[in-house]
Amino acid sequence: MAVLTDKFGRRIADLRISVTDRCNYKCVYCRTGNEGALYGDLPFADYLRMARVLVSMGITKIRLTGGEPLLRSGLVNFVHELAKLRSEDNPDPLDIALTTNGHLLADVAKPLKEAGLTRVTVSMDAVDPDRFARITRVPNGYDQVLAGIRAARRAGLWPLKINCVLLRGFNEDQVIPFGMFAREEGVTVRFIEFMPLEEDRVWSPATVVTLEEILARMAEYRPLVEIPHARSETARRYRFEDGIGEIGIIAPVSHPFCGHCSRIRITCDGKIRTCLFSVWDHDLHAEMRRGASDEQLAEFIRGVVEKKEERHHIGEPDFVPASRTMVHIGG
Ligand code: SAM
Repeated sequence: MAVLTDKFGRRIADLRISVTDRCNYKCVYCRTGNEGALYGDLPFADYLRMARVLVSMGITKIRLTGGEPLLRSGLVNFVHELAKLRSEDNPDPLDIALTTNGHLLADVAKPLKEAGLTRVTVSMDAVDPDRFARITRVPNGYDQVLAGIRAARRAGLWPLKINCVLLRGFNEDQVIPFGMFAREEGVTVRFIEFMPLEEDRVWSPATVVTLEEILARMAEYRPLVEIPHARSETARRYRFEDGIGEIGIIAPVSHPFCGHCSRIRITCDGKIRTCLFSVWDHDLHAEMRRGASDEQLAEFIRGVVEKKEERHHIGEPDFVPASRTMVHIGG
């Protein structure tokens, strides 16, 4: 089957599947704290079929996300089934990653690795227990997440990345503590610019802690050296001058990378989204319910990808908010 390419010539190789939009955290920059899940989730067999068709179309990397994906029982078995998928023309195993808040990771890191998970990214927005609780609005999470990170490392889920969203007025003073954390724990900390994808609509340009500001703050701690990276990589990478510790910065607001976007997403209720900022989605699951064959699903997907947006319009006068917020899309 021909590889999946959009009308701008971007090759689509990277799939994110949200397996639930339930979450056990109520991070202040993501959720209101009052709303729960809005969309139902599907049996794993349905996501597996979607993934199988997409792998046959050239997807090589699958990231499981949510909501909080570790809230779904059966996830280890799902990873085991995904790990068996191969495209016709590429015998290599898929790169299967997980994005999690880490709260429930300690007990499942090893089984996930054994099932075929390659890598894990843990989201963590403060390295101080009290601040962590204020951001997540859940008491006593910090130690559990730290245990999850350490269990993942022991299990060989490597490289281990920690994603930190900085929100002005909440945690921008965590830049240097995270630099220390990266060095002490041997993990890559990646700072992500806050995007207008929250339930509460609190975003404004002033709330974004930009790449330049993060670099300036970190330079007060220790000098950084940029690591050359492929143009297609979303994160700019830096190591500390003494060679110990790496950080990354993902700057979709101040330095958009849409021209290299290779992603599509499947939401927990089986819709395809071609951009985080899409104002509509495409009901792949409805095609399955109608009895479509794999070939018909592939045709549907090809038509959807053809319409992938050229870029986002964050901060521009014509910006239209996405039709779903991050927790209901799958970050
Ligand atoms: N529950 C999992 C977790 O915490 O990693 C997966 C879902 S969460 C929505 C995925 C990622 O999106 C997290 O790293 C989170 O910090 C990030 N995120 C949520 N809202 C965001 C926003 N408005 N801008 C940038 N990143 C955001």
